[in-house]
Amino acid sequence: MSTIQLLPDLLINQIAAGEVIERPASALKELMENSLDADATEIDVQLEGGGIQLLRVRDNGRGIAPNELALALQRHATSKISSLDDLQRVASMGFRGEALASMAAVAQITLISRHVSATHAWKIETSDGVQSTAAPATHPQGTSVEMRELYFNTPARRKFLKTENTEFAYCEETFKRIALSRPDVAFSLQHRGKQVWKLPAIHGEDALQKRITAILGTEFSQGAVTIESNVAGTHPTARLSLSGMATLPAYSRASRDSQYLFLNGRFIRDKVIAHAIRQSYQDILHHQRHPAFVLFLEMPPEQVDVNVHPAKSEVRFRESQAVHQFIFHTLQQALAAPTAGGGDLKTAPAASAFSSPKLAQPSPFMQQPMRLYNAAQPVAFYIAPSWGDVMFGNSKNNSSSTQQQNAALTDPVFANFTDAAPQGDNETGVPPLGLALAQLGGIYILAQNQHGLVVVDIHAAHERIVYEKLKLALDEHHIPSQPLLIPVTFHADTLDIASAEEEHATLTTLGFDIAPLSPTTLAVRAMPAMLKQSQAEAAARDVLHELREFGATRALTERRNEMLSTLACHAAVRANQSLSITEMNHILREMERTERSGQCNHGRPTWFQVTITELDTMFMRGK
Ligand code: ADP
Ligand code: MG
Repeated sequence: MSTIQLLPDLLINQIAAGEVIERPASALKELMENSLDADATEIDVQLEGGGIQLLRVRDNGRGIAPNELALALQRHATSKISSLDDLQRVASMGFRGEALASMAAVAQITLISRHVSATHAWKIETSDGVQSTAAPATHPQGTSVEMRELYFNTPARRKFLKTENTEFAYCEETFKRIALSRPDVAFSLQHRGKQVWKLPAIHGEDALQKRITAILGTEFSQGAVTIESNVAGTHPTARLSLSGMATLPAYSRASRDSQYLFLNGRFIRDKVIAHAIRQSYQDILHHQRHPAFVLFLEMPPEQVDVNVHPAKSEVRFRESQAVHQFIFHTLQQALAAPTAGGGDLKTAPAASAFSSPKLAQPSPFMQQPMRLYNAAQPVAFYIAPSWGDVMFGNSKNNSSSTQQQNAALTDPVFANFTDAAPQGDNETGVPPLGLALAQLGGIYILAQNQHGLVVVDIHAAHERIVYEKLKLALDEHHIPSQPLLIPVTFHADTLDIASAEEEHATLTTLGFDIAPLSPTTLAVRAMPAMLKQSQAEAAARDVLHELREFGATRALTERRNEMLSTLACHAAVRANQSLSITEMNHILREMERTERSGQCNHGRPTWFQVTITELDTMFMRGK
């Protein structure tokens, strides 16, 4: 055993560097943040060899005073905080004063800076942690920091670096994050002498949207809702705001890329927020799909500790529950509008967006292409009497002649029609989703509205309607129940019987009355009125399963929507169930009233619009 010794500075810094400077991208982050802290309006990044060989960040910020240049490279040297008080209110990006010192311990650094008040620039170099003395240099106002040969003196660390291309990809991601957070600053990125990004500074109201579009592409912004929500109050936790853009379910992605979250301007990863975001989508997004978003959360700095992680990418909230609730509700509301689909749709109040003037023009509401006709499965065609009367002069259900007509629908042009959000009620009084014409294949409602043909997936739409109703009912404390004239009995195991007895109160809240009849039999005596009585046993089994698996508390909180969604399935109209025109119109009207009715509980679309213009094109009319 050796005796206890103080570690030499270089070694201390090398140890620290492992935390702060994991790879070129982490150095890039620190340098760009320093530039922003110095109020730069232009930041240029130059990389060679993925940032391992060379990483240079040049800014036009305030600069460093000549007599402070040497200090900047010292550990725990910072101009940003000087007391614990400062630490709790810190709004700048850096404050630990270890970035430059860490870099100097593991790479060769050249620091050139000209302070606003200096007559010329000064330069300092380090090699192996040893600093040169400051020498005059030429540089316009601002600072350039150059880092060469990262980890040249710690080969073990260097081995952990990936290929230059991969390291470059990390650097580019870091660059994009920072560029997203500051549309008012001009950024450029070069790699191996080639310009990769050139982003001019943008000012004005929609600066953020423009920067987002520049970085994530028009495809993202067209499929996203703009979020703008402020909570103002006297209590400090009430001063929260969320802004940015988030994709609609139809524009979700197969991977988690393009998820950007900023807290007070700083990119972070946070479990609480990630959970809140997921939850706000869970209802409308297939579980294998991921939303894309760029979100900015602002809150008083003293409400959050950003100093829990060396790279400051993780945070700790004082009131994490309040933050969770706020994000969840804000996003959920923004996504809830029944036809939330416009590219520029501002966070619409959840109520009827059909009559919202913002939707008064067709929006790029693209849903997954949906086949109307499957050649392998002949389609039954129920013609509604009223429509049949008009079309065929009273001859009813002329279904034999429809086979041929349907064959025409296999034309590929059908596979990629796009859909437009409906307009509000017009002078003619036709409701947004139109009036039912017929039922197709026992699966779809065909309706006519102002724009042309509306096709609704009956099961998907009905499931969503019932689901939303169940949620509302539960919000108001219990789901309306209906006694069964003849109780439905079924065989159950001890655990099911035990949970039926123990969770009687919860079951009542959910609209069920389930009682043991014998040690192996349960009887459903009442069930939610919205569900189909033929589904009594299946629904009861599902609820009991949920209760025994997760317990009453979780079933009614975090699992609540999942459970209600399962229940809604037991209510929904099944395929091949023949509906009358009145029933179909009823479903259409319910859809217009229902939040999120544009997607089914699993995130698939519930309806499509085929406009007359699209039909005209298909038939080459007027050509
Ligand atoms: P921190 O940012 O945590 O203070 P750093 O090691 O990153 O620590 O930087 C140390 C100090 O050097 C900063 O506090 C700042 O005063 C100065 N500095 C670093 N980079 C710049 C820059 N680009 N422009 C002006 N000052 C800078
Ligand atoms: Mg810093």
